[in-house]
Amino acid sequence: MILHGFFGPTLAPKNLATVLTWIHFRGALVLVLLCAGNFFCLACPFLLLRNAARKLFKPRFSWPRALRNKWISVGLFAGILFCYELFDLWSSPYWTAALALGYFAAVLIVDGLFKHAAFCKFVCPIGQFNFVASTLSPLEVKVRDSRVCEKCATKDCIKGRRAEAEKKSEFVILQRGCELALYLPRKVGNMDCTFCLDCVHACPHDNIGVVGRMPASELMADPLRSGVGYFSRRKDIAALVIVFAFGALVNAFGMVRPVYAVEAWLGRMISTTHEAPVLGIIFAAFLIFAPLVLLGSAARMSRALSGGRSSVGTVAVRYSYTLVPLGLGMWLAHYGFHFFTGILTVVPVTQAALASTGVPILGGPFWTWTGMPTRFVQPIELGFLLLGFMGSLMVAHQFAQEDCAENPLRSFAPWFVVCAIVGAASVWLMFQPMEMRAMLMGG
Ligand code: SF4
Ligand code: SF4
Repeated sequence: MILHGFFGPTLAPKNLATVLTWIHFRGALVLVLLCAGNFFCLACPFLLLRNAARKLFKPRFSWPRALRNKWISVGLFAGILFCYELFDLWSSPYWTAALALGYFAAVLIVDGLFKHAAFCKFVCPIGQFNFVASTLSPLEVKVRDSRVCEKCATKDCIKGRRAEAEKKSEFVILQRGCELALYLPRKVGNMDCTFCLDCVHACPHDNIGVVGRMPASELMADPLRSGVGYFSRRKDIAALVIVFAFGALVNAFGMVRPVYAVEAWLGRMISTTHEAPVLGIIFAAFLIFAPLVLLGSAARMSRALSGGRSSVGTVAVRYSYTLVPLGLGMWLAHYGFHFFTGILTVVPVTQAALASTGVPILGGPFWTWTGMPTRFVQPIELGFLLLGFMGSLMVAHQFAQEDCAENPLRSFAPWFVVCAIVGAASVWLMFQPMEMRAMLMGG
C-alpha cells in the first residue's frame, strides 16, 4: 500500500494508499468497534515493527510522569483532523503513504526510547479514537472469576513472566503482562485496552477471557478503574471525548458543500486567501467554542435545576461522556457512507496495481465496480445517527438519576437539549451534498 502511494497513480481513487486508508480501513474500523471491540489495535501493523525492533534493542526510560495523560494525544487527534482538511490528505496518495511511514517512525522512536506501551497509551491518536469508541463495544477483556484472582500469588497478568538471562543483572521476558498498566482484577471496561491479549496468555490460571457485556455500560458507572482512575476526574479524557464527538462534526463539515461558502465568507472577513487561518477558525468554533457554550450552559443549568453542589466544571466533565454514542454514531454515518458506497473499489484498484507491476493475475481492472447506491446507504446512516442519539440519552438519563433520584428530569433536561442540538447538526450534515472522496464515480 505504501509503495503504491509513492510510486502508483497520483489519482486518489486509483491508488491503494488512499482507497484502503480513507475508504476501507476507516469504515471497517468503526464497524468492528460497534459490533465487536478494539480488534484493530490487536492487529496494529505499527506494533509488529516495534515488537521486531525490541528484539534488537531495549527501551531504557520510563514515560515522564507529567505526561501520563491524554493531552498529547488530544492535541495530535485534533492536529490530524486539521491536517486532513488543510492538505486534502484523502486526495493525495503520496502524503497518505508518507503519513503511514511517519507513523511507523514515531512508534519506533517513542517505544524505542520508553518502556511499556507508551505510544499506545499516551500518544497514538488512532488508539485514543479506538479506546473512546470501544466503550460502546459489546466485548471486553475481563477476568472470569474474581475469587481466583484473590488467591493468585503471582499476578502475572500485570507483571508478566521473566527468566534470568546469562548476565545475572538482566532478564528475558517470557511473556509480557499488561503493558498498558491495567491490573485485570480491577480493570473496568475498554478504556486503554488494546485487546493485545498479553494478559490472557500471561494468566497462569486461564482466568481471563474476551467476554460479552452491555455496550455503553462502562460509561454509565464511575468506579475506580485500574490504570485510568475515575472518569469523572479525568479532564484529559473528557477533552478526548469532546474532540471525538465534535471532531466527527467538523470532519463531516469539511466534506459538504456549504463549507466552501463558509470558508469564502470567513476569508473575506479576515481578509485572507490562505486556507490555514480560515480552517483554524472553523476548528476552534467546532472543537472549543461550541463545546464550551453547549456543555458549560447545560452543566450550569442541570446543576441549578437539581440543586447539586458539584462545581460546573465537575458536572461538565462528568456529563461529557454522554457524547460518546452521538460521536460514534456520526463517525459511523460518515465513514460508513464512504465504505458502503465505495466498498468494491478495492477490486479494480488492486487489479490495476498488480497489472502495473507486470503481474496481471487478477485480470484487467473492473472500473465500474464501486459500491452501494447512495439511496440505499442513507437509511443506514440515519440508523447509525439514531442509535447514537438514543445511546447518548440513555447515558445522560443514568447520570441524571444518580444526581437527582427524586426528579431526574431536572438534571436530564439540559443534556437532552445538548444531545438534540448535536444530533440535529449531525443529521443536517449527513444529508448535505457530499464530495465522493477517494472514490471512482462509476468509471
Ligand atoms: S487475572 Fe490471572 S494473573 Fe491476574 S490476578 Fe487474576 S488469576 Fe492472577
Ligand atoms: S494486556 Fe490485556 S488488559 Fe492489557 S491491553 Fe492487552 S488485552 Fe487489554
